[in-house]
Amino acid sequence: MTQYVYRFGGGVSDGRGLGKELLGGKGANLDGMASIGLPVPPGFTISTEMCTRYYAEGQTFPDSVKAEVAQGLAHIEGVTGKSFGNPADPLLVSVRSGARVSMPGMMDTVLNLGLNDETVQGLAATSGDERFAWDSYRRFIQMYADVVLGLDHGAFEEALEIAKEDQGHFLDTDMSAEDWRKLVGEYKRLVQEQWGKPFPQDVHDQLWGAIGAVFGSWESDRAKVYRRLNDIPGDWGTAVNVQAMVFGNMGETSATGVAFTRNPSTGERAYYGEFLINAQGEDVVAGIRTPQYLTRTAREQAGAKPLSMEEAMPETYAELARVFDLLETHYRDMQDIEFTVERGKLWMLQTRSGKRTAKAALKIAVDMAEEGLITKSEAVGRVDPQALDQLLHPTLDPEAERDVLTKGLPASPGAASGEVVFDADTAETRAQLGAAVILVRIETSPEDIHGMHAAKGILTARGGMTSHAAVVARGMGRPCVSGAGTLAIDAKAKLFRIGDRTIKEGDVITIDGATGEVMAGAVPTVQPELAGDFGTLMEWADGVRRLKVRTNAETPLDCRTARGFGAEGIGLCRTEHMFFDAARITAVRQMILADSEKGRRAALAKLLPEQRSDFAEIFEIMAGLPVTIRLLDPPLHEFLPHEEEEFAEVAEAAGIGVEALKRRAAELHEFNPMLGHRGCRLGVTYPEIYEMQARAIFEAAVEVAEKSGAAPIPEVMVPLVATKRELELMKEVIDRTAEAVFAEKGRRIEYLVGTMIELPRAALKAGEIAEVGQFFSFGTNDLTQTTLGVSRDDAGRFLTTYVDKGIFARDPFVSLDIEGVGELISLAAERGRQTRSDIKLGICGEHGGDPASIAFCESVGLDYVSASPYRVPIARLAAAQAALRA
Ligand code: PEP
Ligand code: MG
Repeated sequence: MTQYVYRFGGGVSDGRGLGKELLGGKGANLDGMASIGLPVPPGFTISTEMCTRYYAEGQTFPDSVKAEVAQGLAHIEGVTGKSFGNPADPLLVSVRSGARVSMPGMMDTVLNLGLNDETVQGLAATSGDERFAWDSYRRFIQMYADVVLGLDHGAFEEALEIAKEDQGHFLDTDMSAEDWRKLVGEYKRLVQEQWGKPFPQDVHDQLWGAIGAVFGSWESDRAKVYRRLNDIPGDWGTAVNVQAMVFGNMGETSATGVAFTRNPSTGERAYYGEFLINAQGEDVVAGIRTPQYLTRTAREQAGAKPLSMEEAMPETYAELARVFDLLETHYRDMQDIEFTVERGKLWMLQTRSGKRTAKAALKIAVDMAEEGLITKSEAVGRVDPQALDQLLHPTLDPEAERDVLTKGLPASPGAASGEVVFDADTAETRAQLGAAVILVRIETSPEDIHGMHAAKGILTARGGMTSHAAVVARGMGRPCVSGAGTLAIDAKAKLFRIGDRTIKEGDVITIDGATGEVMAGAVPTVQPELAGDFGTLMEWADGVRRLKVRTNAETPLDCRTARGFGAEGIGLCRTEHMFFDAARITAVRQMILADSEKGRRAALAKLLPEQRSDFAEIFEIMAGLPVTIRLLDPPLHEFLPHEEEEFAEVAEAAGIGVEALKRRAAELHEFNPMLGHRGCRLGVTYPEIYEMQARAIFEAAVEVAEKSGAAPIPEVMVPLVATKRELELMKEVIDRTAEAVFAEKGRRIEYLVGTMIELPRAALKAGEIAEVGQFFSFGTNDLTQTTLGVSRDDAGRFLTTYVDKGIFARDPFVSLDIEGVGELISLAAERGRQTRSDIKLGICGEHGGDPASIAFCESVGLDYVSASPYRVPIARLAAAQAALRA
């Protein structure tokens, strides 16, 4: 019979070594802490397998698991000496979710479970604190009503506000035992009214209700959205952890806190965290009271008055610091910890690898390798390549003028400007229309997740560094300023005030998540520097990677940026972008609309010097490196004039009438341009176009070789080839032109001629095509489009539904469809190599910058990947990780 329940604490750790897949992250780590003797309140974990079975069997529990849970409870009772439902000395438990990876705030938790009209008296007696007992009971009813019974939590909050007002109280802490007792009565009345039944008094009913609710929360809408955004499979399921309650709200010697073993924003090696005296955990996370600092240094740096934990509770703090070190050594990673102090006794409630900014991830990985805690290869594996994106983007120009409105906490680094919006839905709709928005909230909640994702930055009035907004923003790589207390938000009127200034919805502000500054207007930014830890980790990555990394670039600026990021050549220079240049477009149109070779040649002659200087500039920047230049590819259709004025300009340049020109344009109109007159079909029908481009390439290459001595290595690439014969014809044009230029200049240079593989036929016939082509570059944008028969320009409308329904795990235009398109690539690579063993193979579709696709490229042994400039470092790291895993 399958075991579903695993006990921990009090010297027991049933789940030793079983891991997160089965126990969930929280369960595995509780068990891990128990196994190294740390003070963990006793409890048990119901495994993720039970979650799967729960859904498979119509959301019911088998009898066997009921017996196991009873044994689990007996374990907790044995260790604590209390018993569940006992009116004299009641055991209270927490019931929490715990998926394989942490999903902050996404799923449900119930605390203080086990309280009822009788046990509350017992708790009052054993704790000697009647006020605490009734406060715990009302918290429990409030949470249970919300999470398990699904009742309207607004009504409960309102009842609390009314109760406080009636008594003339401002803070919860002003409420007396009697006040709480009365509120409990009111809460029970609300439950009866909304639910139609009395609040459950049987503690076992309470427990099973909560377990069902936690499993049920796995399929909540917000959990589903979070999974989609974070690529978490729906079939993982969650575990449930039932654990003895410990209380941080038992007076001045009790406290609760969250901490990181290193700074999760900067990576600095310093304990980092917040705590609150006489409070429960959710008080810290919810951002209702502003927490105090953990260490004296942090408090002093912030200029804060309330004592740090180090000063207020020196002995417990010292014990906590010892635990931090033990945990880092045990898990060999920075830990994110929750703890509670109950009447001076420290309890560890949770540990897990802490979420961190990209900057912190880099520093922690490099530092830990240098401390000898992990190896350099492990350090390379520790940084998520996608997260580097955060570091590669601009920060505020230190020289720029700033109209600073206020300062909050620097919760997630990076700078962002955008128009202010006050709710998540508006953030999403404005962002879909292309607007940059900053989401401004009093505090965020899991319901805001889609808006946080759509926003460029997040600003909150409340909440600390570990508030929901801060944790989620760091995970998403969004800049965030939290706890900007001077911000008076009026969400109804869609505005906020700071002093006498008013900022309305739609006004532009800038936030700097590294300093906490909030500024009016848009502040200019500067490019990042790639030195320090970034440089070190990249060097280690380069030391283990096999795949070369090139870039897709066609402007000198792109080429320089990419070289700065470590690109080892150009994998795709798209020449059409050069043709769209305002100064050239008329000549390009003249060429396209000409109805004879002579007319085309006249226009091409105007373009040649321009194109030559384009290439010369790129060759200079890429001196000594391979540069793949793709000959003209897009449908002619795309270049056609639209406006009267444009027709007139072309008519004048070509010396023909406007009407004749319009007739010609109508002839060139295509119904399906993506499958029309494009790619090498242009070169086959109008060889003079490719001839001009080849001439520009070779003349520029010879020129640069003469000038600098470092000859570039042009790789001339023919697009959209389906057959060997097409490539043969085009190679003839290119070779003939090369010979002519070399003869004219009296100097030869090395070059290659190859093709893109972006049609299924080309992949299938790669063996034949390799008889002519000296290299292949997989154009996976078109190859995905043509293999799936899905238009790359129109897919957005339905692909999200396809991803939601699990037809594709991810958008196949973002992450390669390895099963389908990938099979064509491996087959083409194999057939190409059979014909030409040293054929050069690369990829230049968008997938060249996607880590999962790069891992696939490693597995089929491609020579290089080519990515857009800002993705070059991501590709370098992803290639290194792929090599380490291979
Ligand atoms: C491709 O199709 O993958 C490619 C790189 O070419 P383009 O995106 O220009 O069609
Ligand atoms: Mg293409």
